[in-house]
Amino acid sequence: MDGETDDDPSVRPLTEAEQRIASELKTGLQKYWGYQSFRPLQREAMTLVMTDHDSLVVLPTGGGKSLCYQVPAVSRNGLAIVVSPLISLMKDQVDSLESAGVAAACINSMQTGREKADVASKIRNGELKLLYIAPERLVQERTLEFLQMTKVSFVAIDEAHCISQWGHDFRPEYRKLSCLRDVFPGISIHGYTATATEVVRSDIAEQLKLKSPEILVGSFDRPNLQYRVEQRTDAVLQIQEILQRHQGESGVIYCISRKGVETTSLSLNALGFKTLPYHAGMEDEDRRRNQDAFIEEKVQIIVATVAFGMGIDKSNVRFVIHAGMPRSLENYQQESGRAGRDGLEAECTLLYSGGDVETWEYLMRDIADPEVLQASRASLKSMQRYCISLTCRHQQLVRHFGQSLESQNCGACDVCLEEMQPVDEPLIVGQKVLSSIVRQGQRFGAAYTAHVLKGRKNKRIIEYKHDQLSTYGLLKDESEHQIRNWIDQLVSLGCIRQVGEFNCLEVTDKGWQILRGEYKPQLLMIRQTAKKQTREDHWEGVNRELFEELRILRLRLAGQKNVPPYIIFSDATLRDLARQRPTSFDRLRAVYGVGTQKVSEYGDTLVKAIAEWCAKNHVPTDVKSEELVAVNKTTRSSSISLAQSSLYFDQFEKKRTIDEVAVQLDRSRGTVGQYLQEYIRLHKMTDIEHWVPTPLRKRIEVALDSVGTERLKPVFEALEGQIPYEEIRLVIVAREVASQ
Ligand code: ADP
Ligand code: ZN
Repeated sequence: MDGETDDDPSVRPLTEAEQRIASELKTGLQKYWGYQSFRPLQREAMTLVMTDHDSLVVLPTGGGKSLCYQVPAVSRNGLAIVVSPLISLMKDQVDSLESAGVAAACINSMQTGREKADVASKIRNGELKLLYIAPERLVQERTLEFLQMTKVSFVAIDEAHCISQWGHDFRPEYRKLSCLRDVFPGISIHGYTATATEVVRSDIAEQLKLKSPEILVGSFDRPNLQYRVEQRTDAVLQIQEILQRHQGESGVIYCISRKGVETTSLSLNALGFKTLPYHAGMEDEDRRRNQDAFIEEKVQIIVATVAFGMGIDKSNVRFVIHAGMPRSLENYQQESGRAGRDGLEAECTLLYSGGDVETWEYLMRDIADPEVLQASRASLKSMQRYCISLTCRHQQLVRHFGQSLESQNCGACDVCLEEMQPVDEPLIVGQKVLSSIVRQGQRFGAAYTAHVLKGRKNKRIIEYKHDQLSTYGLLKDESEHQIRNWIDQLVSLGCIRQVGEFNCLEVTDKGWQILRGEYKPQLLMIRQTAKKQTREDHWEGVNRELFEELRILRLRLAGQKNVPPYIIFSDATLRDLARQRPTSFDRLRAVYGVGTQKVSEYGDTLVKAIAEWCAKNHVPTDVKSEELVAVNKTTRSSSISLAQSSLYFDQFEKKRTIDEVAVQLDRSRGTVGQYLQEYIRLHKMTDIEHWVPTPLRKRIEVALDSVGTERLKPVFEALEGQIPYEEIRLVIVAREVASQ
């Protein structure tokens, strides 16, 4: 994991040469993309490209892989060749590069002869920085000959796992890429993937004939995603509840079957939501139309099978719901990972029922190869374990990929947020349910069993004289719904088996262990869903009405340009616009994700719209971002990476000041301040003399006492603007620690 092991290149100060490269890269990052700092491992990955060192970069979806080659491509002389598997992906990337002012193009089979000739002439004239191309086209002799006459800066292979048979998306056409090493001698090759396994990794390096490649593997954690698992009781009702939290926002609902897709989509539409279906059984054209409507934000919700998603780069998906359990954790990671690529908070909920396992087993019945069958079953088991376990979801996911999280509480899953409520006496509840099944002769299904336990008087029960059983009405104080749910949980735990055409319940060996008191199951209450917490930190200071206004403006601009809205501006940029509310170009440049090209293209429109709206609604404009960011009291700051923290913490150990660390690590004062806050919290430090000397601290405390800590700007002003925000925040944190 990055930043945590001794041999990691990031855990040391930069050499002079690296600093020079870093500052050059940063200039490009700011100018074209409007970003102020690198994401974890980006600087390292980019440096390898700049220094012609073969590399393989493994980062999760949304980790920022594209920039790892795009920024160096801008910086270097010549043309970077980017291999990408899908036309839709290429098009998206080229649109987004062009909108940032970077000269890029693609060659694909959908282009007309004229378009192709146009690209070729741009290449000949050295006008392009990046060329996207599909593998099968690149390896054509004609293409290679043509490119050999061009100055190629480096080759980047996106979705590099497609080259490996061991990966989940093997594409034979990728295999041919092994010729690149010989065709372009002396030119470095760089692979990028989100697929983590060791086998796939070394296979990629081997197939591409990488020369002593540097392999960078990032943390697989996605801290901005909030994971939840809910027992499925009434899927549509549960989905509806989630949708209500995300009005107007984009999301994907995955169902296991085509039929599930259709009925779910129809039911939701009947409830007044606007959704479109997507599955492999639809006509190509219908499918494409629905996908486009989603990407262009004409419709916000898509209900789909797993056929949907590959090639979707939409960055502002705010929720992914699984109406049924996926067949493996790899699948879950991938599908849920389509949420929150922009780094903003997003919600991933999995609705699960014990029956899902049987559905998958049924679907797997045709697998002939015993090895594959065994592997599929093992994957299914891990997936099921995830659903019923009470361990932090983030922790479980990263562990599955061979990593681990330092933090004991991720603050972003149902387990850590304590939304799961365990049953007080699970052994007794389990015994009640199981003994009823035994006494009924193991010949009845779940609904009937629940009726007996609830103490219902219906015809069948009386006929069988089950109203005379000692278990009759044993759980009469619980809802029937809850009882059914416990039966379902016991099925998931392998304590009950459902057999035959009528799914009669049978007690398994594990179930008998419960009856004998030898095994205590973990059982949960059905969640009272009302008080679900959503994370608000990314919304801090954002004027939501203005955000909505800007979203409409973005949609209009996107329509004019004929590109998806998120290519114009990401959601993160819209939020920052609605937070800082710039009315001048100078201020606009300070907004997250606004580079030079965007200022010249949309500056006038934006500044005018913001000024007008703010004047009409009496909302202040031109707010500096640092004035807004109050200290986040409960969760760790969103912009710091746990994986990188040891790099900073080492410096704090040595008692270096904020400014010294900022220079040493080439980071902003604000970033260093955030890590220092975390360091102080972690070590429960109340003495921060080293960073804020006592006289200064006293002054800050006086100001805090007089104006409070809700907003920082008034504190800053009370101190006559003489003391930086970082120091003020440190004092607040130290006081928080002291009061715990
Ligand atoms: P990946 O290819 O790894 O899934 P992307 O390259 O698509 O990820 O990046 C995901 C999102 O994060 C994009 O919207 C991108 O613009 C943004 N991003 C990437 N690097 C940075 C950075 N250094 N600072 C801010 N945003 C970034
Ligand atoms: Zn957690």
